[in-house]
Amino acid sequence: MTSTRPDPTLQTLLNNHPNLSYEGDRGLVMDGTSLTDLATQHDTPCWVISADTLRRRARALQDAFRARDLPVHCHFAVKAQDHQACLTVLAQCGFGADVVSGGELRRALAAGIRARDIVFSGIGKTDKELELAIRHQIGQINVESVEELHRLDALARKMQQRARIAFRVNPDIDAQTHSKITTGRAEDKFGIAHDAIPALYRKTMTDMPGVELVGLAVHLGSQMVTEGPFRKGYERIAALVRTLRENGMSVTDIDCGGGLGIPYRDEQAPPPSMLADVIADTLGDLGVRLHVEPGRWLAAPSGVLLGRVIDVKEAARRFVIIDAGMNDLVRPAMYDSWHGILPLRTPEDTTGGDVVDVVGPICESSDIFARQRHLPPLKKGDLIALLDAGAYGTVMSSTYNSRPLAAQVMIDGQRQALIRRRQTLDELLAQETIPDWLTTP
Ligand SMILES: *Cc1c(COP(=O)(O)O)cnc(C)c1O
Repeated sequence: MTSTRPDPTLQTLLNNHPNLSYEGDRGLVMDGTSLTDLATQHDTPCWVISADTLRRRARALQDAFRARDLPVHCHFAVKAQDHQACLTVLAQCGFGADVVSGGELRRALAAGIRARDIVFSGIGKTDKELELAIRHQIGQINVESVEELHRLDALARKMQQRARIAFRVNPDIDAQTHSKITTGRAEDKFGIAHDAIPALYRKTMTDMPGVELVGLAVHLGSQMVTEGPFRKGYERIAALVRTLRENGMSVTDIDCGGGLGIPYRDEQAPPPSMLADVIADTLGDLGVRLHVEPGRWLAAPSGVLLGRVIDVKEAARRFVIIDAGMNDLVRPAMYDSWHGILPLRTPEDTTGGDVVDVVGPICESSDIFARQRHLPPLKKGDLIALLDAGAYGTVMSSTYNSRPLAAQVMIDGQRQALIRRRQTLDELLAQETIPDWLTTP
Protein backbone atom coordinates (compact mmCIF):
# COMPACT_ATOMS: atom_id res chain seq x y z
CA MET A 1 0.00 0.00 0.00
CA THR A 2 2.92 2.30 0.59
CA SER A 3 4.43 1.67 -2.83
CA THR A 4 4.46 4.51 -5.32
CA ARG A 5 4.60 2.21 -8.33
CA PRO A 6 1.34 1.98 -10.26
CA ASP A 7 -0.86 -0.96 -9.35
CA PRO A 8 -0.76 -3.96 -11.67
CA THR A 9 -3.68 -4.06 -14.12
CA LEU A 10 -6.34 -6.75 -13.91
CA GLN A 11 -4.65 -8.39 -16.88
CA THR A 12 -1.32 -8.52 -15.04
CA LEU A 13 -3.06 -10.03 -12.01
CA LEU A 14 -4.59 -12.69 -14.24
CA ASN A 15 -1.22 -13.41 -15.83
CA ASN A 16 0.29 -13.88 -12.36
CA HIS A 17 -2.54 -16.25 -11.33
CA PRO A 18 -2.79 -19.02 -13.92
CA ASN A 19 -5.50 -20.73 -11.83
CA LEU A 20 -7.87 -17.78 -12.44
CA SER A 21 -9.56 -16.70 -15.68
CA TYR A 22 -12.72 -15.02 -16.94
CA GLU A 23 -15.15 -17.22 -18.84
CA GLY A 24 -18.02 -15.11 -20.22
CA ASP A 25 -21.24 -15.66 -18.26
CA ARG A 26 -19.51 -17.83 -15.65
CA GLY A 27 -17.41 -14.84 -14.67
CA LEU A 28 -14.21 -15.43 -12.72
CA VAL A 29 -13.33 -19.12 -12.72
CA MET A 30 -10.81 -20.79 -10.40
CA ASP A 31 -9.44 -24.13 -11.61
CA GLY A 32 -12.67 -24.75 -13.55
CA THR A 33 -15.17 -23.64 -10.90
CA SER A 34 -17.24 -20.47 -11.24
CA LEU A 35 -16.67 -18.39 -8.11
CA THR A 36 -20.02 -16.64 -8.65
CA ASP A 37 -21.75 -20.03 -8.35
CA LEU A 38 -19.93 -20.70 -5.07
CA ALA A 39 -20.77 -17.26 -3.65
CA THR A 40 -24.42 -17.75 -4.59
CA GLN A 41 -24.55 -21.21 -3.07
CA HIS A 42 -22.61 -20.53 0.15
CA ASP A 43 -23.18 -16.80 0.64
CA THR A 44 -20.41 -14.32 1.50
CA PRO A 45 -17.90 -13.79 2.98
CA CYS A 46 -16.61 -17.14 1.81
CA TRP A 47 -13.13 -18.62 1.53
CA VAL A 48 -12.38 -20.85 -1.44
CA ILE A 49 -9.33 -23.11 -1.58
CA SER A 50 -8.34 -25.12 -4.64
CA ALA A 51 -6.90 -28.58 -3.99
CA ASP A 52 -5.56 -28.61 -7.55
CA THR A 53 -3.51 -25.45 -7.05
CA LEU A 54 -2.18 -26.76 -3.74
CA ARG A 55 -1.11 -30.01 -5.41
CA ARG A 56 0.44 -28.23 -8.39
CA ARG A 57 2.51 -26.03 -6.13
CA ALA A 58 3.49 -28.92 -3.86
CA ARG A 59 4.79 -30.82 -6.91
CA ALA A 60 6.56 -27.76 -8.32
CA LEU A 61 8.43 -27.39 -5.04
CA GLN A 62 9.37 -31.07 -4.86
CA ASP A 63 10.43 -31.04 -8.53
CA ALA A 64 12.75 -28.09 -7.90
CA PHE A 65 14.62 -30.07 -5.24
CA ARG A 66 14.55 -33.26 -7.27
CA ALA A 67 16.07 -31.42 -10.25
CA ARG A 68 19.07 -30.62 -8.04
CA ASP A 69 19.20 -34.15 -6.60
CA LEU A 70 18.72 -32.77 -3.11
CA PRO A 71 17.46 -35.13 -0.39
CA VAL A 72 14.89 -32.64 0.88
CA HIS A 73 11.92 -33.56 3.08
CA CYS A 74 9.09 -31.04 2.69
CA HIS A 75 7.04 -30.06 5.72
CA PHE A 76 4.08 -27.74 5.29
CA ALA A 77 3.95 -24.87 7.81
CA VAL A 78 0.52 -25.56 9.27
CA LYS A 79 0.16 -22.07 10.71
CA ALA A 80 -0.31 -20.68 7.18
CA GLN A 81 -3.40 -22.79 6.47
CA ASP A 82 -4.48 -25.29 9.08
CA HIS A 83 -7.62 -26.87 7.63
CA GLN A 84 -7.41 -30.65 7.88
CA ALA A 85 -8.61 -31.03 4.28
CA CYS A 86 -5.63 -28.97 3.07
CA LEU A 87 -3.26 -30.94 5.30
CA THR A 88 -4.70 -34.15 3.85
CA VAL A 89 -4.09 -32.97 0.28
CA LEU A 90 -0.49 -32.11 1.12
CA ALA A 91 0.08 -35.32 3.09
CA GLN A 92 -1.03 -37.21 -0.03
CA CYS A 93 1.65 -35.30 -1.94
CA GLY A 94 4.21 -36.61 0.54
CA PHE A 95 4.45 -33.57 2.77
CA GLY A 96 5.02 -33.69 6.49
CA ALA A 97 4.05 -30.83 8.79
CA ASP A 98 5.80 -28.03 10.62
CA VAL A 99 3.72 -27.16 13.68
CA VAL A 100 4.04 -24.40 16.26
CA SER A 101 1.57 -25.48 18.94
CA GLY A 102 -0.01 -28.54 20.51
CA GLY A 103 -3.20 -27.66 18.65
CA GLU A 104 -1.44 -27.76 15.30
CA LEU A 105 0.24 -31.01 16.29
CA ARG A 106 -3.18 -32.54 17.02
CA ARG A 107 -4.48 -31.24 13.68
CA ALA A 108 -1.58 -32.67 11.72
CA LEU A 109 -2.03 -36.08 13.36
CA ALA A 110 -5.80 -35.94 12.80
CA ALA A 111 -5.18 -35.25 9.10
CA GLY A 112 -3.17 -38.45 8.85
CA ILE A 113 0.34 -37.00 8.85
CA ARG A 114 2.67 -39.52 10.47
CA ALA A 115 4.25 -38.42 13.75
CA ARG A 116 7.72 -39.02 12.37
CA ASP A 117 7.00 -36.50 9.58
CA ILE A 118 6.17 -33.71 12.03
CA VAL A 119 8.55 -30.97 13.18
CA PHE A 120 7.62 -28.80 16.17
CA SER A 121 8.96 -25.22 16.24
CA GLY A 122 8.05 -22.20 18.35
CA ILE A 123 9.55 -20.25 21.21
CA GLY A 124 6.94 -20.87 23.88
CA LYS A 125 6.21 -24.59 23.97
CA THR A 126 4.56 -25.46 27.28
CA ASP A 127 5.38 -28.60 29.26
CA LYS A 128 2.05 -30.04 28.13
CA GLU A 129 2.85 -29.40 24.46
CA LEU A 130 6.32 -30.89 24.81
CA GLU A 131 4.86 -33.98 26.53
CA LEU A 132 2.40 -34.41 23.67
CA ALA A 133 5.28 -34.24 21.18
CA ILE A 134 7.43 -36.66 23.19
CA ARG A 135 4.55 -39.10 23.67
CA HIS A 136 3.88 -39.23 19.92
CA GLN A 137 7.63 -39.50 19.19
CA ILE A 138 7.42 -36.85 16.50
CA GLY A 139 10.21 -36.45 13.97
CA GLN A 140 11.93 -33.44 15.46
CA ILE A 141 11.50 -30.73 18.06
CA ASN A 142 13.30 -27.51 17.19
CA VAL A 143 14.64 -26.17 20.48
CA GLU A 144 14.66 -22.39 20.75
CA SER A 145 16.53 -21.75 24.02
CA VAL A 146 18.77 -23.23 26.70
CA GLU A 147 15.86 -23.02 29.11
CA GLU A 148 13.61 -25.03 26.80
CA LEU A 149 16.39 -27.56 26.25
CA HIS A 150 16.64 -28.26 29.99
CA ARG A 151 12.87 -28.55 30.35
CA LEU A 152 12.63 -30.92 27.41
CA ASP A 153 15.50 -33.12 28.60
CA ALA A 154 13.95 -33.41 32.07
CA LEU A 155 10.47 -34.18 30.70
CA ALA A 156 11.72 -36.82 28.29
CA ARG A 157 13.78 -38.55 30.98
CA LYS A 158 10.79 -38.54 33.33
CA MET A 159 8.78 -40.19 30.54
CA GLN A 160 11.66 -42.60 29.87
CA GLN A 161 11.88 -41.39 26.31
CA ARG A 162 14.43 -39.75 24.09
CA ALA A 163 13.22 -36.74 22.07
CA ARG A 164 14.77 -36.06 18.66
CA ILE A 165 15.78 -32.43 18.58
CA ALA A 166 17.57 -29.79 16.54
CA PHE A 167 18.76 -26.39 17.68
CA ARG A 168 17.04 -23.47 16.03
CA VAL A 169 19.86 -21.08 15.24
CA ASN A 170 19.43 -17.33 15.32
CA PRO A 171 21.97 -16.39 12.62
CA ASP A 172 21.51 -12.63 13.11
CA ILE A 173 20.48 -11.92 9.54
CA ASP A 174 17.89 -9.47 8.28
CA ALA A 175 15.38 -11.21 6.01
CA GLN A 176 14.62 -7.90 4.26
CA THR A 177 10.90 -8.29 4.61
CA HIS A 178 8.20 -6.63 6.76
CA SER A 179 9.56 -6.24 10.30
CA LYS A 180 6.56 -8.08 11.76
CA ILE A 181 7.57 -11.22 9.84
CA THR A 182 11.34 -11.02 10.33
CA THR A 183 12.59 -13.71 12.71
CA GLY A 184 16.35 -14.14 12.28
CA ARG A 185 17.90 -10.98 13.72
CA ALA A 186 19.65 -11.01 17.10
CA GLU A 187 16.94 -8.74 18.52
CA ASP A 188 14.17 -11.11 17.38
CA LYS A 189 12.89 -13.53 20.00
CA PHE A 190 13.62 -16.68 17.97
CA GLY A 191 16.39 -19.24 18.15
CA ILE A 192 19.72 -19.65 19.96
CA ALA A 193 22.54 -17.21 19.12
CA HIS A 194 24.80 -18.89 16.57
CA ASP A 195 27.99 -18.27 18.53
CA ALA A 196 26.49 -20.04 21.55
CA ILE A 197 25.73 -23.20 19.56
CA PRO A 198 29.06 -25.14 19.66
CA ALA A 199 29.38 -25.16 23.47
CA LEU A 200 25.73 -25.99 23.96
CA TYR A 201 25.89 -28.71 21.31
CA ARG A 202 28.73 -30.46 23.14
CA LYS A 203 27.05 -30.14 26.53
CA THR A 204 23.84 -31.58 25.10
CA MET A 205 25.58 -34.56 23.53
CA THR A 206 27.40 -35.43 26.75
CA ASP A 207 25.02 -34.42 29.56
CA MET A 208 21.48 -34.79 28.26
CA PRO A 209 20.29 -38.36 27.83
CA GLY A 210 16.67 -37.22 27.35
CA VAL A 211 17.39 -35.77 23.93
CA GLU A 212 18.92 -36.98 20.70
CA LEU A 213 20.46 -33.97 19.00
CA VAL A 214 20.44 -34.44 15.22
CA GLY A 215 21.32 -31.02 13.86
CA LEU A 216 20.34 -27.43 13.25
CA ALA A 217 17.29 -25.49 12.10
CA VAL A 218 16.90 -21.96 10.80
CA HIS A 219 13.93 -19.86 9.73
CA LEU A 220 14.71 -16.28 8.80
CA GLY A 221 11.33 -14.75 8.16
CA SER A 222 8.42 -14.80 5.78
CA GLN A 223 7.55 -13.36 2.35
CA MET A 224 11.24 -13.25 1.41
CA VAL A 225 11.63 -12.27 -2.24
CA THR A 226 15.39 -11.94 -2.55
CA GLU A 227 18.04 -14.59 -2.60
CA GLY A 228 20.57 -12.78 -0.39
CA PRO A 229 19.20 -13.52 3.09
CA PHE A 230 18.60 -17.20 2.27
CA ARG A 231 22.17 -17.55 1.02
CA LYS A 232 23.71 -15.70 3.97
CA GLY A 233 21.64 -17.65 6.46
CA TYR A 234 22.49 -21.05 5.00
CA GLU A 235 26.17 -20.11 4.67
CA ARG A 236 26.20 -19.38 8.41
CA ILE A 237 24.59 -22.76 9.09
CA ALA A 238 27.09 -24.55 6.84
CA ALA A 239 29.98 -22.85 8.66
CA LEU A 240 28.51 -23.95 11.99
CA VAL A 241 28.15 -27.53 10.78
CA ARG A 242 31.82 -27.56 9.76
CA THR A 243 32.89 -26.17 13.14
CA LEU A 244 30.81 -28.75 14.98
CA ARG A 245 32.17 -31.60 12.91
CA GLU A 246 35.78 -30.43 13.28
CA ASN A 247 35.16 -30.71 17.01
CA GLY A 248 33.92 -34.26 16.74
CA MET A 249 30.19 -33.60 16.91
CA SER A 250 27.72 -35.29 14.59
CA VAL A 251 25.22 -33.35 12.47
CA THR A 252 22.82 -35.38 10.33
CA ASP A 253 19.86 -33.04 9.73
CA ILE A 254 19.44 -29.42 8.64
CA ASP A 255 16.04 -27.77 8.65
CA CYS A 256 16.11 -24.79 6.25
CA GLY A 257 12.80 -23.29 7.43
CA GLY A 258 10.24 -21.57 5.21
CA GLY A 259 9.89 -18.00 4.04
CA LEU A 260 9.72 -18.17 0.26
CA GLY A 261 7.61 -15.22 -0.91
CA ILE A 262 5.03 -14.78 -3.65
CA PRO A 263 4.11 -11.86 -5.95
CA TYR A 264 1.07 -10.36 -4.19
CA ARG A 265 1.45 -7.12 -6.16
CA ASP A 266 4.46 -6.76 -8.44
CA GLU A 267 7.22 -8.33 -6.35
CA GLN A 268 9.83 -10.13 -8.44
CA ALA A 269 9.39 -13.25 -6.32
CA PRO A 270 11.89 -15.96 -7.23
CA PRO A 271 10.69 -19.48 -8.07
CA PRO A 272 11.45 -22.54 -5.90
CA SER A 273 14.39 -23.33 -8.19
CA MET A 274 16.16 -20.32 -6.62
CA LEU A 275 15.71 -21.88 -3.18
CA ALA A 276 16.88 -25.26 -4.47
CA ASP A 277 19.96 -23.65 -6.05
CA VAL A 278 20.87 -21.75 -2.89
CA ILE A 279 20.41 -24.83 -0.71
CA ALA A 280 22.45 -26.92 -3.14
CA ASP A 281 25.26 -24.31 -3.22
CA THR A 282 25.46 -23.80 0.52
CA LEU A 283 24.43 -27.09 2.14
CA GLY A 284 24.44 -29.58 -0.71
CA ASP A 285 27.87 -31.08 -0.03
CA LEU A 286 27.43 -31.66 3.70
CA GLY A 287 25.84 -35.07 3.33
CA VAL A 288 22.94 -34.22 5.64
CA ARG A 289 19.22 -34.87 5.42
CA LEU A 290 17.59 -31.57 4.48
CA HIS A 291 14.17 -30.26 5.48
CA VAL A 292 12.16 -27.25 4.33
CA GLU A 293 9.03 -25.75 5.88
CA PRO A 294 7.21 -23.54 3.35
CA GLY A 295 3.74 -22.24 4.16
CA ARG A 296 2.83 -19.11 2.24
CA TRP A 297 4.34 -20.15 -1.09
CA LEU A 298 2.18 -23.28 -1.22
CA ALA A 299 -1.08 -22.03 0.19
CA ALA A 300 -1.48 -18.31 -0.51
CA PRO A 301 -2.18 -18.52 -4.27
CA SER A 302 -4.42 -21.54 -3.69
CA GLY A 303 -7.11 -19.51 -1.94
CA VAL A 304 -9.36 -16.50 -2.42
CA LEU A 305 -11.79 -14.67 -0.15
CA LEU A 306 -15.12 -13.79 -1.76
CA GLY A 307 -17.07 -10.73 -0.64
CA ARG A 308 -20.16 -8.83 -1.76
CA VAL A 309 -20.52 -5.07 -2.08
CA ILE A 310 -22.85 -3.75 0.65
CA ASP A 311 -22.81 -0.16 -0.54
CA VAL A 312 -20.79 2.24 -2.63
CA LYS A 313 -20.37 5.35 -0.50
CA GLU A 314 -19.65 8.61 -2.30
CA ALA A 315 -17.65 10.88 0.01
CA ALA A 316 -14.22 12.55 -0.20
CA ARG A 317 -13.35 9.25 -1.85
CA ARG A 318 -15.49 6.57 -3.38
CA PHE A 319 -15.67 3.76 -0.82
CA VAL A 320 -16.67 0.29 -1.93
CA ILE A 321 -17.87 -1.32 1.31
CA ILE A 322 -17.83 -5.10 1.26
CA ASP A 323 -19.15 -7.72 3.67
CA ALA A 324 -15.72 -9.21 4.40
CA GLY A 325 -13.66 -7.38 6.98
CA MET A 326 -10.34 -7.34 8.79
CA ASN A 327 -11.81 -9.90 11.15
CA ASP A 328 -11.78 -12.30 8.18
CA LEU A 329 -8.53 -11.26 6.45
CA VAL A 330 -6.34 -9.22 8.79
CA ARG A 331 -3.19 -9.02 6.65
CA PRO A 332 -3.81 -5.58 5.11
CA ALA A 333 -4.56 -4.08 8.54
CA MET A 334 -1.72 -5.91 10.30
CA TYR A 335 1.08 -5.85 7.73
CA ASP A 336 -0.03 -3.15 5.26
CA SER A 337 -0.16 -5.95 2.75
CA TRP A 338 -1.46 -5.57 -0.78
CA HIS A 339 -3.97 -8.10 -2.14
CA GLY A 340 -5.16 -8.24 -5.72
CA ILE A 341 -8.91 -7.67 -6.13
CA LEU A 342 -10.92 -9.00 -9.07
CA PRO A 343 -14.62 -8.55 -9.75
CA LEU A 344 -16.38 -11.89 -10.21
CA ARG A 345 -18.40 -10.64 -13.18
CA THR A 346 -16.42 -10.65 -16.43
CA PRO A 347 -15.35 -7.00 -16.89
CA GLU A 348 -15.86 -5.20 -20.18
CA ASP A 349 -12.25 -4.14 -20.19
CA THR A 350 -9.36 -4.96 -17.89
CA THR A 351 -7.38 -1.76 -18.23
CA GLY A 352 -8.82 1.07 -16.18
CA GLY A 353 -12.07 1.85 -14.38
CA ASP A 354 -13.00 3.75 -11.23
CA VAL A 355 -10.54 4.69 -8.52
CA VAL A 356 -11.96 3.40 -5.25
CA ASP A 357 -11.08 2.47 -1.68
CA VAL A 358 -12.27 -1.06 -0.90
CA VAL A 359 -13.13 -1.28 2.78
CA GLY A 360 -14.71 -3.69 5.24
CA PRO A 361 -17.56 -3.04 7.66
CA ILE A 362 -15.50 -3.15 10.89
CA CYS A 363 -15.41 -0.07 13.10
CA GLU A 364 -11.67 0.50 12.70
CA SER A 365 -9.94 2.85 10.27
CA SER A 366 -7.45 0.08 9.47
CA ASP A 367 -10.22 -2.11 8.03
CA ILE A 368 -9.18 -1.28 4.47
CA PHE A 369 -8.38 -3.79 1.75
CA ALA A 370 -7.27 -1.36 -0.96
CA ARG A 371 -6.67 2.36 -1.29
CA GLN A 372 -7.16 4.25 -4.54
CA ARG A 373 -7.41 1.06 -6.57
CA HIS A 374 -8.44 1.06 -10.25
CA LEU A 375 -11.35 -1.35 -10.59
CA PRO A 376 -14.13 -1.85 -13.12
CA PRO A 377 -17.30 -0.07 -11.90
CA LEU A 378 -18.77 -1.83 -8.85
CA LYS A 379 -22.23 -1.40 -7.41
CA LYS A 380 -24.25 -2.73 -4.49
CA GLY A 381 -24.61 -6.50 -4.70
CA ASP A 382 -21.58 -7.09 -6.93
CA LEU A 383 -19.16 -9.83 -5.94
CA ILE A 384 -15.37 -9.58 -5.69
CA ALA A 385 -12.46 -11.89 -4.93
CA LEU A 386 -9.48 -10.98 -2.74
CA LEU A 387 -6.56 -12.91 -4.15
CA ASP A 388 -3.74 -14.86 -2.49
CA ALA A 389 -5.83 -15.35 0.63
CA GLY A 390 -5.05 -19.06 1.06
CA ALA A 391 -2.24 -18.46 3.59
CA TYR A 392 -2.46 -16.46 6.81
CA GLY A 393 -6.14 -15.86 6.02
CA THR A 394 -8.65 -18.16 7.75
CA VAL A 395 -6.09 -19.00 10.42
CA MET A 396 -5.92 -15.38 11.58
CA SER A 397 -9.67 -14.71 11.45
CA SER A 398 -11.45 -13.48 14.54
CA THR A 399 -15.02 -12.74 15.52
CA TYR A 400 -14.30 -9.06 16.19
CA ASN A 401 -17.49 -6.97 16.04
CA SER A 402 -19.40 -10.23 16.76
CA ARG A 403 -18.98 -11.36 13.20
CA PRO A 404 -19.14 -15.16 12.89
CA LEU A 405 -16.29 -17.03 11.20
CA ALA A 406 -16.91 -17.24 7.44
CA ALA A 407 -17.64 -20.37 5.42
CA GLN A 408 -14.79 -22.30 3.75
CA VAL A 409 -15.18 -24.27 0.52
CA MET A 410 -12.71 -26.62 -1.14
CA ILE A 411 -12.81 -27.14 -4.90
CA ASP A 412 -11.10 -30.12 -6.51
CA GLY A 413 -11.60 -30.59 -10.24
CA GLN A 414 -15.35 -30.99 -10.79
CA ARG A 415 -15.97 -31.51 -7.08
CA GLN A 416 -16.61 -29.00 -4.36
CA ALA A 417 -17.38 -29.31 -0.66
CA LEU A 418 -18.19 -26.98 2.20
CA ILE A 419 -15.21 -27.78 4.46
CA ARG A 420 -16.21 -25.43 7.27
CA ARG A 421 -19.72 -24.16 7.53
CA ARG A 422 -20.33 -20.57 8.47
CA GLN A 423 -20.39 -20.12 12.23
CA THR A 424 -23.81 -19.07 13.50
CA LEU A 425 -24.49 -16.24 15.92
CA ASP A 426 -26.07 -18.79 18.26
CA GLU A 427 -22.78 -20.68 18.33
CA LEU A 428 -20.91 -17.48 19.09
CA LEU A 429 -23.19 -16.66 22.03
CA ALA A 430 -23.42 -20.24 23.32
CA GLN A 431 -19.85 -20.23 24.63
CA GLU A 432 -20.56 -17.43 27.08
CA THR A 433 -22.15 -17.58 30.51
CA ILE A 434 -23.42 -14.73 32.61
CA PRO A 435 -22.58 -15.28 36.32
CA ASP A 436 -25.68 -16.05 38.45
CA TRP A 437 -25.04 -13.19 40.81
CA LEU A 438 -25.55 -10.70 38.04
CA THR A 439 -28.98 -11.98 37.10
CA THR A 440 -30.48 -13.06 40.45
CA PRO A 441 -31.39 -10.16 42.73
C1 LIG B 1 5.98 -19.40 9.85
C2 LIG B 1 7.03 -20.41 9.80
C3 LIG B 1 7.29 -21.10 8.60
C4 LIG B 1 6.55 -20.81 7.31
O1 LIG B 1 6.82 -19.55 6.81
P1 LIG B 1 6.29 -19.15 5.34
O2 LIG B 1 6.78 -17.78 5.15
O3 LIG B 1 4.80 -19.24 5.38
O4 LIG B 1 6.88 -20.11 4.37
C5 LIG B 1 8.25 -22.08 8.61
N1 LIG B 1 8.95 -22.37 9.74
C6 LIG B 1 8.74 -21.73 10.91
C7 LIG B 1 9.53 -22.10 12.09
C8 LIG B 1 7.77 -20.73 10.97
O5 LIG B 1 7.57 -20.08 12.12
